[in-house]
Amino acid sequence: MDMTADSIGPKVAPLVEFDDVAKTYTVRRGAFRQSVESVHAVAGVSLSVGVGESVGLVGESGCGKSTLARMALRLLEPSSGTLRFKGTDYDRLSSSEIKEFRSTIQAVFQDPYSSLNPRMRVVDIISEPLRALPGTTRRVRHSRALEILDLVGLPPMAAEGYPNQFSGGQRQRIAIARALVSEPALIVLDEPTSSLDVSIRAQILNLLNRLREELTVAYLVISHDLSMIRHMCDRISVMYLGRIVETSVSEHFYSNLQHPYARGLLGSLLIPLAKGAGPQDPMPGEPPSAVNPPPGCSFHPRCEWAFEPCTTDTPELLYRRGCQLDQLTACHLYEPSDLIRAGRA
Ligand code: SF4
Repeated sequence: MDMTADSIGPKVAPLVEFDDVAKTYTVRRGAFRQSVESVHAVAGVSLSVGVGESVGLVGESGCGKSTLARMALRLLEPSSGTLRFKGTDYDRLSSSEIKEFRSTIQAVFQDPYSSLNPRMRVVDIISEPLRALPGTTRRVRHSRALEILDLVGLPPMAAEGYPNQFSGGQRQRIAIARALVSEPALIVLDEPTSSLDVSIRAQILNLLNRLREELTVAYLVISHDLSMIRHMCDRISVMYLGRIVETSVSEHFYSNLQHPYARGLLGSLLIPLAKGAGPQDPMPGEPPSAVNPPPGCSFHPRCEWAFEPCTTDTPELLYRRGCQLDQLTACHLYEPSDLIRAGRA
């Protein structure tokens, strides 16, 4: 039995699936912009988010996680590979399926100051996504906006205000309310708390967790912050230079990380490690350029464990010796496990 990223995908019906998806940008450099270079933002990622699941993507800035989020939202086209929504290729969605897609997948972005139109009243901001749905009168939209305001912990009088009258945390609640109003199945949360104060951050995390339980909405959470991801996600994938290098259910994630980069990322956090976790290594060096990624394992220039194959062969994301069930890693230090060959996983 082959065990790949899909093997530890959702145990429930998938909403969004990435199948070997890549995204390459072309950039021009030089005084006369004469030199053309390719930036490999995402390099062959397979990942699924299922009904009601919360999946986290972590990595340093520039690792490709936000590009992946924008492809999930159909804001960017992949250069290769396939994206599916409820089993249908994005390219083959009919016009009615595209409408469903638009109301079913919503997003909350990092900056609540720039993501809300300052000239619109809160009630209009929140109810705007309902305009695309047939049969929603102004009265229905207004009453739905008030319901959602209540759900995110804002008073009815907030409906008549404008974004600049609210604090950062309150604005993020408004952004969450707007994302929820059309009863989405999935919300892409792109660094949803990173611009907020620590005390407000905890409130927003608690709110998102409560809403997920109450509404069975799925999350794709994008962050560089492992401590936030640990409070929100069922499954976590670590990205490095456009690839997933380790993926696991969160139960094992903090106690049994295998990939040296993932361990370094965790080691850079000032949080208590799970009981039984080994010593964590600090993260050395800076990520290399995505224009000319190093051959083999792209982490090898920073890896203290690198040996000969690391400079030539790109390690596959596989179930390997040392992994827990539902955990895959892409590192030559660990042999692919015999358990898989015996079909026990
Ligand atoms: Fe380090 Fe090699 Fe593993 Fe890459 S494959 S993380 S270079 S040991």
